[in-house]
Amino acid sequence: MSREQLIVQRARKSFQTGKTKPLEFRVHQLKNLLRFITEKRRNIADAVKKDLGKSEHGTELFETLGLEGEINLAIENLMEWAAPRPVEKNLLTISDEVYIQPEPLGLVLIIGAWNYPWAVTLQPLVGAIAAGNAAIIKPSEVSSYSAKAMEELLPLYLDKDLYPVVTGGVLETQELLKQKFDHIFYTGSSAVGRLVMEAASHHLTPVTLELGGKSPCYIDKNCDITVACRRITWGKFVNCGQTCIAPDYILCEPSIQSTVVEEIRKCIKEFYTDNPKSFEDYGRIINQRHFKRIMALMDGSTVALGGDSDESQCYIEPTVLKDVTSESKVMREEIFGPLLPIITVSGVDEAIQFINEREKPLVVYVFSHEKKLIKRVIAETSSGALLANDCLVHFTVSALPFGGVGNSGMGCYHGRHTFDQLSHLRSCLIKQLKMEGVNSMRYPPHTAKKMSWARFFLLKQVNMGRLRRTVLLAMLAGLAAFAVQRFLQRG
Ligand code: NAD
Repeated sequence: MSREQLIVQRARKSFQTGKTKPLEFRVHQLKNLLRFITEKRRNIADAVKKDLGKSEHGTELFETLGLEGEINLAIENLMEWAAPRPVEKNLLTISDEVYIQPEPLGLVLIIGAWNYPWAVTLQPLVGAIAAGNAAIIKPSEVSSYSAKAMEELLPLYLDKDLYPVVTGGVLETQELLKQKFDHIFYTGSSAVGRLVMEAASHHLTPVTLELGGKSPCYIDKNCDITVACRRITWGKFVNCGQTCIAPDYILCEPSIQSTVVEEIRKCIKEFYTDNPKSFEDYGRIINQRHFKRIMALMDGSTVALGGDSDESQCYIEPTVLKDVTSESKVMREEIFGPLLPIITVSGVDEAIQFINEREKPLVVYVFSHEKKLIKRVIAETSSGALLANDCLVHFTVSALPFGGVGNSGMGCYHGRHTFDQLSHLRSCLIKQLKMEGVNSMRYPPHTAKKMSWARFFLLKQVNMGRLRRTVLLAMLAGLAAFAVQRFLQRG
């Protein structure tokens, strides 16, 4: 039996003891996870520094702050999330208990990516714990320091059998994927996403695929280009462009292209100084393979800004490419690095057409003063999310489901969405053994009269809120009528 098989078996057995069912147990584990993040902040920052060259504050802002928020939200709302959810009834079930009961799915496999090695691996875990599941955590081997730190430190805080960390590369992930899980939550490339889904299909396991793709960014010529470029520069070059929701390329009219380049130049200088290479808030490309891949994407394009690199340090300067065409190499795959191509279009019509001719992206960005134009882009395109006049920040709104559509993924998470994604929403209907007469319409022989009763009872939705209000109003009206009558009698 392989190591992975043993770990999976142990986690499943532990889940089957029913340990995760009480909410107090889940809250306790979530509080431990929070304690882990606060007490081991330094270790996390050190690992991320070694993996991606990020600064300590950068790691806190982009990795652990969001995690803390998600854990606190889950702790505060768990009672409500896990409670039975009453639903609307029809006339046939009016006196019955009808509700949705969230229940744990069982054993979840979480496969993380390397670009935000803590955030994308532990955020799904928050929901998995809250929903009462066991979870195998498989951090990406590419961010090896973070994976090692996670393997060493997490078991000091969480139940070791229920939430084990499995490190290793492709072989280990493949071995894990052979096992039976009740849900697989994968973050990474679309290519591996296909393999994950294929493996999951053997056990009919549902999947959440948090994938990537090319997120377009349209800048309307009438918007505040200075502010737009400031926000785009931040969203693109943070973590050296290795962000799944980074704007991949800009679409704008030719008349504003040089202004856009100029504004981005100013912002790069402001954010990362004249020498980003030696500036601590500008990181590095994860490894030489990705360095070479990104550098090769520049072939055939005109560099408008930046372009400097150092292979020995996996450093690529923030770079803007201008007059890029849809046939350019840089437009053939997700960039996932600090290159920002600009493609000129004749206006919003062509931008929409350009977006719709490609795979559905994780995000569509649009910068404009005109609400009408923004609404038009919403109505005429499709993507995991749409963010107008900013970059990345929709990620921070826990109430918004975060996820892709089509090639950018399936399923979603954050806040209550993670809880729901990793729960089975069980339909419960509790009837009484009384009122058998009402059922006669469904028993043979089936007649036209019974059919018309069935239509009435089954198609009539009852809004209990409205029904209660109606009854209350009727009672008040009756009371008022009674009072008026008494008053008139006395008079
Ligand atoms: P990666 O190489 O770290 O792979 C992700 C995981 O897949 C790892 O745990 C790895 O072990 C596993 N894996 C790799 N090859 C495998 C194989 N052949 N069989 C089974 N498992 C395998 O990450 P990546 O794919 O380079 O990640 C980058 C991609 O992730 C980008 O496309 C990015 O947009 C996307 N991403 C998406 C999100 C999101 O939330 N939607 C977040 C981060 C990254």
